[in-house]
Amino acid sequence: MSPVRAVLFDRDGTLVHDVPYNADPARVRPVEGARAVLAELRARQIRTGVVTNQSGIARGLLTEADARRVNRRVEELLGPFDVWALCPHGPDDGCLCRKPRPA
Ligand SMILES: [Zn+2]
Repeated sequence: MSPVRAVLFDRDGTLVHDVPYNADPARVRPVEGARAVLAELRARQIRTGVVTNQSGIARGLLTEADARRVNRRVEELLGPFDVWALCPHGPDDGCLCRKPRPA
C-alpha cells in the first residue's frame, strides 16, 4: 500500500483547461493525461480531491450553483473525487479558505 494517502489537485489549468470564471459545463475539457493519472491513483486506493479558488462567485460572474454544475461535469469526465473544497471568496475578502491559506 502506498504511503501516500491522498492527492489534492487544483482544478483549472491542472485537471481541466482553464476557462476563466467558467459557468458553463459544456466548456469543461480535461487536460491530456488527467484521466490516466486519476485512474492510476484510484487503482492504488489513493484518495483524490480538488481544491479550487472560484473568485468569480464573489465577483458576481457565476453562482455557486454554476460552479457545482461545472464540478459535476468534471466528475462526469474524470470520475468521482473523494473531496471537493471550493473557496467562493475574492482575494481581498480575508477568508481562510482561499488557497494557499490552510482552510
Ligand atoms: Zn474563501
